[in-house]
Amino acid sequence: MRLSRYFLPVLKETPSEAQIVSHRLMLRAGMIKQATAGIYSWLPLGYRVLRKIENIVHEEQARAGHLPMLMPTLQSADLWRESGRYDDYGQEMLRITDRHGRDMLYGPTNEELITDIFRSNVSSYKDLPLTLYQIQWKFRDEIRPRFGVMRGREFLMKDGYNFDLTKEDAMYAYDRHMVSYLRTYERMGLKAIPMRADSGPIGGDDTHEFLVLAETGESEVFYDADILNLTLGNRTVNYDDHAQCADIVREWTTPYARTDETHDAALFDQIPEARRRSSRGIEVGQIFYFGTKYSEAMGATVQGPDGQAVPVHMGSHGIGVSRLLGAIIEASHDDKGIIWPEGVTPFHCGIVNLKQGDEEADGACETLYSALTALGLDPLYDDRNERAGGKFATMDLIGLPWRITVGPRGLKNGVVELTCRRTGESEELPPQEAVKRVA
Ligand code: ATP
Ligand code: MG
Ligand code: MG
Ligand code: MG
Repeated sequence: MRLSRYFLPVLKETPSEAQIVSHRLMLRAGMIKQATAGIYSWLPLGYRVLRKIENIVHEEQARAGHLPMLMPTLQSADLWRESGRYDDYGQEMLRITDRHGRDMLYGPTNEELITDIFRSNVSSYKDLPLTLYQIQWKFRDEIRPRFGVMRGREFLMKDGYNFDLTKEDAMYAYDRHMVSYLRTYERMGLKAIPMRADSGPIGGDDTHEFLVLAETGESEVFYDADILNLTLGNRTVNYDDHAQCADIVREWTTPYARTDETHDAALFDQIPEARRRSSRGIEVGQIFYFGTKYSEAMGATVQGPDGQAVPVHMGSHGIGVSRLLGAIIEASHDDKGIIWPEGVTPFHCGIVNLKQGDEEADGACETLYSALTALGLDPLYDDRNERAGGKFATMDLIGLPWRITVGPRGLKNGVVELTCRRTGESEELPPQEAVKRVA
């Protein structure tokens, strides 16, 4: 992409309405624009990162064998009356009446809709197990929308639902979700800690929230510092192997890690003092096992091996796709701007031409641009006729992992400058070497 043809409306001033750094940086980097309270437009740069995050979620769900689909945002109130949640959900639900006077709502989550799809189409245990998911916009009329996309009213969520014959099978689905979520967050460069949590209005007993530690997080969390050392890294996970998934879950759920809702001070005090930590965290996902709560209320049964109809065991699983942008930036920035982890960066590498219009500099930039593009590396070429200082400030603000700076002086010696955004370190090297280094 050439910056002269891109739409990157960066702000020089720090927007006064933004209270936390991720919100400020997303506005300054021209990623989002508020349409009205808690509702945002995604400008090209923000949209690119959003899509990257979605892709990672899709890839990891595919690995786990979960099936993507898409449900509508608007739903009829009838199904929610069946489950009893139409009244329970309260003011967070945006209720709408259509021209015929029918009660509708903008889905805050989709247990009812998916259970209806299931009961209309599945009647035998032979069709189980089944896990369906979508990435779709949700609406919750949050009393205090704030922190930009972190607590929006309209927000993008991955929501998944498993249907199983027995509790044991459903716990296997639970384990698959925990493992696939750990991988998902790791690929985004995040440390998200699974913490025992409270199930709230979804209902049920088994639930973990995934929290990214950050001072600006809205949850209070308590954990054993040992959990910070755990990583999946590049170990191979076989999702068909329940024992392996269960082992990984055991590994991550053995060290103490709880949100304030389930915190147990007596248990916490048993951890050696040097490892006891309490801090703030951002909830970037949650998984639930809730058994037969919805299947019983809505008659989602299957015929078991003995011919008897039994309600299916279910769970649901969410990832805050749009909130993740904020969480990643909270976890990865400096005073100059965002520092994107490689997995989600909108562009892999920036090219800064120090003397636009100089034949040699322009030519070298074009060559670099083609070489990087050919390698599938998505360069962003700042080909505008602007001062070098302004170009550097923009690159630092939007936080691409690498910057290649090209100018007539370096080219005389056959070199360009390669700068790593995270470390700030620069080195001079021939253009082809710079391409190899960022690949
Ligand atoms: P919170 O405690 O932050 O209100 P929640 O527990 O109500 O979140 P869930 O129902 O568990 O949310 O939804 C799954 C995920 O969707 C959450 O883990 C979170 O990452 C994301 N999410 C929830 N509400 C919002 C929101 N208002 N804006 C952005 N993302 C959200
Ligand atoms: Mg909430
Ligand atoms: Mg919550
Ligand atoms: Mg939650």
